[in-house]
Amino acid sequence: MTTLHLTHMAALAHLAPPWHPERPDRIQVIERCLEQERFAALVREQAPVASEAALARAHDVAYVEATLAGLRDGALPGVDHDTHVSPGTLEAALRSAGAAVQAVDEVMTGQVRNAFSAMRPPGHHAGRARTAGFCFFNNVAVAARHAQAVHGVGRVAILDWDAHHGDGTQEIFWNDPDVLFCSLHQWPFYPDTGAVSERGPHDTVVNVPLPAGADGGPFREGLAAVVLPRILDFRPDLILISAGFDAHWRDPLADLRLTEADFRWATEQVMAVADATCTGRIVSLLEGGYDLVGLARSVEAHVAALIEPATGRTWEAGEAAPAALADAGS
Ligand SMILES: [Zn+2]
Repeated sequence: MTTLHLTHMAALAHLAPPWHPERPDRIQVIERCLEQERFAALVREQAPVASEAALARAHDVAYVEATLAGLRDGALPGVDHDTHVSPGTLEAALRSAGAAVQAVDEVMTGQVRNAFSAMRPPGHHAGRARTAGFCFFNNVAVAARHAQAVHGVGRVAILDWDAHHGDGTQEIFWNDPDVLFCSLHQWPFYPDTGAVSERGPHDTVVNVPLPAGADGGPFREGLAAVVLPRILDFRPDLILISAGFDAHWRDPLADLRLTEADFRWATEQVMAVADATCTGRIVSLLEGGYDLVGLARSVEAHVAALIEPATGRTWEAGEAAPAALADAGS
């Protein structure tokens, strides 16, 4: 079984002012990194555009229509001051969401074991009817809804390890008992949501706040002791990762201190859970990550793990918290 890698040149044409951290270089350094010989086994495809119907499964129809019109016109009313629109933004946003859809299609039909999309703009701050924090369409939400609607997937688990809370994703699935949303993030921090007490009416929201300055220790502990047991108990048919890498110690936007080894370890742990619950089906979508060196190293570690079988033991759903795995990292 193989790992799919999706990207597209259109990701480079979504432009912001030169000082802006969410910039085309992010994709360029990732692609340069993934050209290495060790990644020769990747199945490489171009990200297609998402259909309006796919977007409207995660967002209000009126929001999709207004956002598409605004992006075509080159201006979106009401967008926050951090989120910029350029002539290339429309195609980039459509292909960023389209990559998520394509990845779900290939993973759910067994063409590939798992998938990683290196596209931008990111998505996890976009709400049902809200553009925010560099995000227009919520790519991971589009992926989850596509899996449910087109592939008949019963339960989807979303793991968001971006340094910022995935407020848009949490909002979209707040009332959905069939989608488990788990987030580890710096807190208190932008966008201010993500407290432990935010659990949702069906107890399907799991927030693990990390204090500024936290290194891989609390991150690994939160993943192994809180998040992974919840995903195991949920028995998802598919696991999606909102893979932001701005928790890396070099990142200028956040104050966490993870290393690339932490991301490799986290990826392997999630793969072990995926093996135990959903025959290894994982779709990973790039979110943040703004230090180009930290981003490239982290993606390298993440994708290398996705290609190779997880080295940890396989867990059975329902067994005790796999806290012992916390010290099994590289
Ligand atoms: Zn972030």
